[in-house]
Amino acid sequence: MKLTQELAVYFQQRFHSEYPLFLEAFSEPAPTSIRLNPTKSDSSEEVDSVPWAEHGHYLAKRPSFTLDPRFHAGAYYVQEASSMFLEEVCKQVLPLDNDLNVLDLCAAPGGKSTHLLSLLSQESLLVANEVIRSRANILVENIAKWGRHNAIVSNNDPRDFQLLEGFFDVILVDAPCSGEGMFRKDPKAMREWSPSHVQLCVDRQRRILMDVWAALKPGGHLIYSTCTYNPKENEENLAWFLTQVEATTLDLSLPAAWGVQDIRYQNIHGYGLYPHRLKGEGLFMSVLRKEEGKAWHPPKRKKGQPYFDKPHKDVIQQVAHWLKRPEELHMIQINDQLTALSAPAVRKMESLYRYLRVRYGGVALAEVKRKDIRPAHALALYTGLEQESLSVHEVEREEALTFLRKKPWPLALPKGWHLISYQSLGLGWVKGVPGRINNYYPQHWRIRM
Ligand code: SAM
Repeated sequence: MKLTQELAVYFQQRFHSEYPLFLEAFSEPAPTSIRLNPTKSDSSEEVDSVPWAEHGHYLAKRPSFTLDPRFHAGAYYVQEASSMFLEEVCKQVLPLDNDLNVLDLCAAPGGKSTHLLSLLSQESLLVANEVIRSRANILVENIAKWGRHNAIVSNNDPRDFQLLEGFFDVILVDAPCSGEGMFRKDPKAMREWSPSHVQLCVDRQRRILMDVWAALKPGGHLIYSTCTYNPKENEENLAWFLTQVEATTLDLSLPAAWGVQDIRYQNIHGYGLYPHRLKGEGLFMSVLRKEEGKAWHPPKRKKGQPYFDKPHKDVIQQVAHWLKRPEELHMIQINDQLTALSAPAVRKMESLYRYLRVRYGGVALAEVKRKDIRPAHALALYTGLEQESLSVHEVEREEALTFLRKKPWPLALPKGWHLISYQSLGLGWVKGVPGRINNYYPQHWRIRM
């Protein structure tokens, strides 16, 4: 990859004596890395591990992930290694065993949200939000594939979260940025770069921070990150933000061998990951603690008036035996969609459904039409699915790909619903009807190649 003249001058000024090293790293291919889903994959010892992420691995070459059924089953997420630094920050700063309300404000496509789901306790609640409607679809898909029940996906502008004043213990702002850490992989990001685009990003980042700040409870943590190296969008922006709000930035203690740069600017302490110092594309991350503000007060509810519609008891009974631990879940019905929410979080969920545009919540269980109960696709991917209560049809790779492509498949199975499984991981549903099977893999998720 070759830098434009304007960027060559800019990076020279940015990295000074380290510029030749940066240039050398920039001319090499970007490393490929994945993060395993610990509830769906076993970690192998003989891998090149990402130092700051327990389940992060580098791969020697980039395979075709699309043609790996395990990828579609949510066994891993393809994620750039420096983004996984979030794990070290969470482990050092957050009481991860507690029951936390966490907002990932700029969440699509879902790399950091799925990572947070692996780090948080089962009792915690994650709101994965994406303001751009079309990008919220891929976020729903990736959250569903991760197979947990303690997340919701919303499609809101940052300012909408002001209705949830003091609600969150943690807010991650992985801000839209000028994307210098994307240049090596994405020449389009490089062509879009200009000083005026950087300024546009700075202004937008400031607006996002100001808009969402009220939603953080006093004593709560805001993790700010970008995938750019530009100080204007990173430490300088946070220094400005600290002139507007009462907060302090926190220190981490990191092994020098990782090569993460300690950044100190005015009253800001941040961390820079650069491609010439470590195996990753680049990231800036800093943690702020909120020192003032109002705590959350849940809205009053009329006694005996539950916010969510309760499904019919026969439906609850029938679906409960598909689940390993139904007692951990609270079933609700919205129109004909049966959904399970995390039972300990259900009161909090009411507020989220009330104030946010919720695109997906908990785990979708089934579509209910009178006596017909059709299992939802997300249920096939859910780690709490009791496979022993179902008819499971285990397939080899080629058959799995035929299923994922929704191609004609001469498969004979008894009447009724069957889970298609690959290496014991649920992929989706088929229904046996006389003379054939119907493939219920979602049309818009199918493999097109
Ligand atoms: N956190 C994601 C992950 O790890 O997969 C990547 C997020 S990406 C760096 C930034 C996201 O912010 C994009 O999905 C983008 O659509 C969203 N975004 C763009 N403008 C925004 C705005 N004004 N407010 C909030 N989010 C915005």
